[in-house]
Amino acid sequence: MAGIYVHIPFCKKKCSYCDFYSVGEAKMDNHFTDFVLKELSLRNLLIADRIVKTIYFGGGTPSLLPTGNIKRIISGLSDYFVVNPNAEITIEVNPDDVTLELAEQYQAIGINRVSIGVQSFNNDELIFLGRRHDVSKAVEAIRTFTKAGIANISIDLIYGLPNSTLKSWEQSLSRALGLDIQHISCYHLTYEEGTPLTRGVARGSVIPLDEELSKAQFDLLREMSAASGYVHYEISNLSKPGYISQHNSGYWLGEEYLGLGPSAHSFNGSMRWWNPSSISQWEKEVDSGNFTKNMETIDEVTRFNELLITRLRTTWGVNLNEVANTFSIEIYNHLRNKIIPFIESGKMVMENNTLKIPPNHYFVSDSFVCELLMV
Ligand code: SF4
Repeated sequence: MAGIYVHIPFCKKKCSYCDFYSVGEAKMDNHFTDFVLKELSLRNLLIADRIVKTIYFGGGTPSLLPTGNIKRIISGLSDYFVVNPNAEITIEVNPDDVTLELAEQYQAIGINRVSIGVQSFNNDELIFLGRRHDVSKAVEAIRTFTKAGIANISIDLIYGLPNSTLKSWEQSLSRALGLDIQHISCYHLTYEEGTPLTRGVARGSVIPLDEELSKAQFDLLREMSAASGYVHYEISNLSKPGYISQHNSGYWLGEEYLGLGPSAHSFNGSMRWWNPSSISQWEKEVDSGNFTKNMETIDEVTRFNELLITRLRTTWGVNLNEVANTFSIEIYNHLRNKIIPFIESGKMVMENNTLKIPPNHYFVSDSFVCELLMV
C-alpha cells in the first residue's frame, strides 16, 4: 500500500532553527489546492500501488490551510486511488492555531491523527526556538483534540538545546509523558545551514550543547519513556503499543509514496523525484506538466545503502535473508564481512538473522552505520 504526503508551505512566523521550505505570505485558498489536485492528476500513475494506506499533511503549517481545502484534497485522492477505509490520516498542527471548532472539523473530515509541534514544555526554550505558542497553549491543544475525539495524538519535542540541563530536560519530558499521548517524535536540535540559529553559532551568541550532555538527555528519554510504557521503535520516535506512525514506517520500510506540493519528495521503488522548493517554480511545473528535472533512478547500491540507513534506525532492523534475496551476492558478502567487528563489540546484535542496533547505541549509530555502506 502507498502513502501520500502533501506539503503545505506556509508559516505565520519562521522558527529560528528551521530550514523546511515555507513562506510567510498566505495563499491559503483554493488556488493552492487547485494546483495540488492538478499535480495529483498528472503524477498519480507514477505510483504502482493503487491503495492508499496513509495520508500526511506536513509543512510548513498545514493547520493554516482552511479545512475545506484539506477536505478537497482528501476527496480528490479517491478519484485516482482507493483510500483504505482505515487509512491513517495525519495533519501537523501548530498549537497556536488549535480551537475546538478546528479540532471538530478535522474529526468530521476523517483526520484521525494529529502531530502537534510542541517542541518543549519550557517557555524560555520556546522563545529561544522562535515558536509562536507557549506551554499552556500546547497543553490546551492536546486537551482540545482529545475532547474532539481524536484518539491518536503525536507531539514533537526537541532535546540538546543550548543552555538546557539534564534537569530542565527531565522536567520537559515529565510533562510530556504525564499527558499520556499516543506518540512522541523527539529530535536532537540540528544546526541547519542558513538558519538564524546557525548564524548565532557562527557569531558566538549561541553555544551548542556539549555532546555528552546531549547523550545523557537521550538516555534519559529512553529510560523515562520505557517506564511510561512507550516503545522506542525508531531512533527519534516512540509510541504507545499500537500507535506506531504508519506513514513514517512506510518511508523506513521502503514503501511507495507520492509527495504533492512544493519541496515534496516521492518514491516508487525504482525512482525518486522531488519538487522545487519554490511555490512559483512548482506551479510552473504543474502548469506545464514538465516534471522531469528533479528525478533520479535508484540503482542497486543506492537501494542497499538506503536500506541500511533507514532500517538500522528502527526496531525492525535488516533481515539478512531479505538482503540475500534482494541484492547481488557481492553486496550480501560485503555486509556479512563488514558487520563482524560491530557484532563483536556489541554495537550491533543479530536476532533471528536480523541485524539490529541496540537502543543504547542509537545515539552514536550514524558514526558506525556509514562504515557498512557500499561506495
Ligand atoms: S518549525 Fe514548523 S512552524 Fe516553524 S518555521 Fe519550520 S515549518 Fe514553520
